Amino acid sequence: MTFLTHLECSLCGRPYDADRPQQTCSTCNRPLLARYELESARRLERERLIGNEPSLWRYRALLPVRDEAHIVSLGEGFTPLLHARRLGERLGMPYLYIKEESLNPTASFKARGLAVAVSRALELGVREMVIPSAGNAGGAAAAYAARAGLRLRVFMPRDVPAPFLAECRALGAEVTLVDGLITDCGREARRLAQEFGWFDLSTLREPYRLEGKKTMGYELAEQMGWRLPDVIIYPTGGGTGLVGMWKAFAEMAELGWIDEHCPRMVVVQSEGCAPMVRAFQAGEEFATPWENAQTVAAGLRVPAAVGDFLILRAVRESGGTAIAVSDEMLVEAQMEMGRMEGIFACPEGGATLAALKVLLSEGWIAPDERVVLFNTGSGLKYL
Ligand SMILES: *Cc1c(COP(=O)(O)O)cnc(C)c1O
Repeated sequence: MTFLTHLECSLCGRPYDADRPQQTCSTCNRPLLARYELESARRLERERLIGNEPSLWRYRALLPVRDEAHIVSLGEGFTPLLHARRLGERLGMPYLYIKEESLNPTASFKARGLAVAVSRALELGVREMVIPSAGNAGGAAAAYAARAGLRLRVFMPRDVPAPFLAECRALGAEVTLVDGLITDCGREARRLAQEFGWFDLSTLREPYRLEGKKTMGYELAEQMGWRLPDVIIYPTGGGTGLVGMWKAFAEMAELGWIDEHCPRMVVVQSEGCAPMVRAFQAGEEFATPWENAQTVAAGLRVPAAVGDFLILRAVRESGGTAIAVSDEMLVEAQMEMGRMEGIFACPEGGATLAALKVLLSEGWIAPDERVVLFNTGSGLKYL
């Protein structure tokens, strides 16, 4: 059972039918957001609304799939929130936590978004799909497409690290290598999608990957006893996870599950590709595309994001900030997370620790605050 009612444009507010395959708003080309009947859901007890599956489907009432039979799952979500005791001691922080997303199927949090997007695509009768990916999204989409029995084409930059490519192929997707970046892959994927009527799974160009990623927000709240942390540090590419968590916090506040205290949201990017940091510092509502994007953190190599204004809004409304760290800093922090906590993080996860150190030294974060770092994937695919 779901409380899903309709979709709504995130910029102009125009409503859309949720029970047909939809992409972006036909008026302003911005992301559509899923809306739920939260007034009715509020009347039910939290304990009755949350299931007991050890996966993100425990929050099914607030996810878009209508019929349980359409759920395509590999056990995604409900990842551990680990107390980083040794790192915390070194930094003088007693309440430092790591949300360990590399334990998801296909070893990254992309599984969350794609499990929900592919389930819903299956439910709405989609047969063929396309996705541009700089790394983890392709493998996750391939896994769920295979499990659903749907056809998937993945468009990747020619210089994508080999394990990402091998994973997509092993999971049965057809891969096309494109000269250029994720934005060029997106353009090519969209062109063919339009020509052949394939469904485009690009981040924030279909409404339900966001719903999958928002479950990180629900989980954090549940795992922290319904008291959200003071600060969340998030490695931001297309921003789906950050925007999704912010949406989850708003929904939970409306449901009466949490109080008004929301975390300060911190965007971390690499100095080699930091369009959101630049826009945040310049006080802009939208970001201009980054030229010559370069970083070892494949998931952060996103020069332009359709959801840019949603990321910037969430950061500002939360009283958060945006910060860029160098590739050397993020790789060093990645290694430190490994040595100190036994987590072989992806470079993106390393970036969150690098950012924490800067913000701590600047006094922007106090040592006794409750801080959550997101390790969004495994380091193994970057070797
Ligand atoms: C995609 C990706 C990111 C960026 O996620 P967004 O929610 O799109 O900003 C960060 N880390 C890893 C490992 C990724 O694969």
